[in-house]
Amino acid sequence: MAELFCFRCGPSSQDRAEFCERCGAPLSFSRAPEKTLRPADLRGRGVWRYSPFLPEVEPLTLGEGRTPLIPAPRLAELLGVEILLKLEGLNPTGSFKDRGAAVMVAVLRKKGAKKLCDDSSGNAGASLSAYAARAGIPARIFVPAYASGPKLRQIEAYGAELVRVPGPRPAATAALLGELEKNPDLVYASHNHSPYFLAGLRTLAYEIAEDLRFQEVDHVVVPVGGGALYLGLFYGFSELLRLGWVKKMPRIHAVQAAACAPIVRAHLAGEEEVEEVELGETVAEGVRIPKPARGAEILWALRSCGGEALAVTEEEIMEAQRELARKEGVYVEPTSALSLAGLLRLRVQGIIREGERVILPLTGSGLKSAKP
Ligand SMILES: [Zn+2]
Repeated sequence: MAELFCFRCGPSSQDRAEFCERCGAPLSFSRAPEKTLRPADLRGRGVWRYSPFLPEVEPLTLGEGRTPLIPAPRLAELLGVEILLKLEGLNPTGSFKDRGAAVMVAVLRKKGAKKLCDDSSGNAGASLSAYAARAGIPARIFVPAYASGPKLRQIEAYGAELVRVPGPRPAATAALLGELEKNPDLVYASHNHSPYFLAGLRTLAYEIAEDLRFQEVDHVVVPVGGGALYLGLFYGFSELLRLGWVKKMPRIHAVQAAACAPIVRAHLAGEEEVEEVELGETVAEGVRIPKPARGAEILWALRSCGGEALAVTEEEIMEAQRELARKEGVYVEPTSALSLAGLLRLRVQGIIREGERVILPLTGSGLKSAKP
């Protein structure tokens, strides 16, 4: 399948593997629709509306996508910019990950996967469990033994088998990899490196552009942990630019928690690879990833679209979460608030200028917060 490619080495001839045979980077997916494709050709609603851009599979759906894009008038007035909030917490399991999980599980179902597994005690685990249930495929989720909270209860509710692994977070991944070797029926449905998960996240860009009738977007500010959301937006907007549906590539900025900011560190140092950082404590549990699998790809994308990478403090994150709820009536989990915290910084620094249009994807519902 020539639809898989490596951001460094180009098209991959591999059929089954998800990593580049030349450099080892996780592969991405691109179907590259014909240039004659027009927005008027799109049918249906939600993620599968963008089927011409997605792998050719029978859609698997819980009604994901088609989330509202609403203005934030009070924050806009305060900051002197146009702000649009993309409410991704309204997806079926309460986070943007449903876009990726729907497409990834649909592909794995087509390939005949008998049992899926992932290592996530957060939104990705909940999302995979829901779509696996929908597809009738058993799922096994490896989590650190210390993990708790609403997302874990959600994973269990969907009937996924929870494997609690003692020790730090990497121990859960190690246990999963060990199990994969022993059990040939088990498939790693990874939200961090599956090209199909990333393909589903591109629909966020298509939807934003369509909602705006393809008018220009100046900036998108996104929380970055594993980086699939960042890359989904980057590849999605790049594709629309190639098709001529939009005239300009937005600058996509990456925001991390100062307690765990490997991308920011590497970007500011001008490096091309991301080195592991020490894992600090943060309320933004969704971006607490010390070494993202797609780190080098994110650095490359940041440079390509003129994005900034910035780290914000715990106080800034919690303040942004409060502001979204009190000023705009939108309750998000702390990880999602990184985008507003980032916008505030970029505005003060003058990188985002008066009157510009800014999109803030709000990744997950506040109802899933483990902490206030
Ligand atoms: Zn490569």
